[in-house]
Amino acid sequence: MNTWFTENQTDALRLGLRLKSVLAAEKTPYQELMVAETETYGRLLALDNYVQTTVADEFVYHEMITHVPLFMHPHPKQVAVIGGGDGGAIREILKHPSVEKAHLVEIDERVVTIAREYFPEISHALSDPRAELHFTDGIEWIRQARQLDVVIVDSTDPIGPAEGLFQSDFYHNIRQAMTEDGVMVAQSESPFLHRDLIRHMARGMRAWFEHVALYTAAIPTYPSGYWSFLMASSKPLVPHPRYQTANLTTRYWTPGIQTAAFVLPRFVEEILHDV
Ligand code: SAM
Repeated sequence: MNTWFTENQTDALRLGLRLKSVLAAEKTPYQELMVAETETYGRLLALDNYVQTTVADEFVYHEMITHVPLFMHPHPKQVAVIGGGDGGAIREILKHPSVEKAHLVEIDERVVTIAREYFPEISHALSDPRAELHFTDGIEWIRQARQLDVVIVDSTDPIGPAEGLFQSDFYHNIRQAMTEDGVMVAQSESPFLHRDLIRHMARGMRAWFEHVALYTAAIPTYPSGYWSFLMASSKPLVPHPRYQTANLTTRYWTPGIQTAAFVLPRFVEEILHDV
């Protein structure tokens, strides 16, 4: 088969993955969904022709969007993921013994159905009794949520239904939905390609939270391969000492990465310079 998946990452930059086969393609009420087997990175989930996850590198994103904020909280019990229908963030959250409930708030039920069918290694924890699934818009859901310890925004890019997930009002509603020492995190795209977006998000968080910090990780199938996450809290962002002795099975996160991920190259520090 000489079929390529091509993602237009910007008007002048493309990612190409040669495919072995296409396993599913459909139009859901919200987006175009595709599952394919790639030669280089294993099985791929794409939405609107943008890579969401591949089996070969999903561990980086899912470990980094979950363990880093969970270890910033003294005792996370109630956690919510906004988006994240592949289930990878829920799988990682449930590795923390203190967690009693992990809410998944996904607008598109088809993403979860397809993830259960084609990505069991990513989605299996969605069947855990501590996982609670809500098929609704995260922007609406967060307005009525209360007493959350950690909120993780695991969204698609800021177009279509995810646009509001990048706005200051949404961060305000997250603040209202969390306890005093609550911690939020949102995927914030690439320091090489999306500097204005990172600044926009950081400003939006600073309006409601005293402490905002950026950290990064290497994710080969996301634009530029270098990804960022913005974290915010009303309490100082210092990891709880349990991270040093935590016995988690991970492939990217380590106790060293928990703190090293916040050490930024100069050009990334400068993105937030006057925000
Ligand atoms: N890791 C991925 C990335 O950065 O490309 C994101 C993965 S996850 C599949 C993103 C999910 O967010 C999608 O399944 C999409 O349906 C969901 N989503 C988008 N907007 C949403 C909203 N307003 N409320 C809840 N879920 C939303």
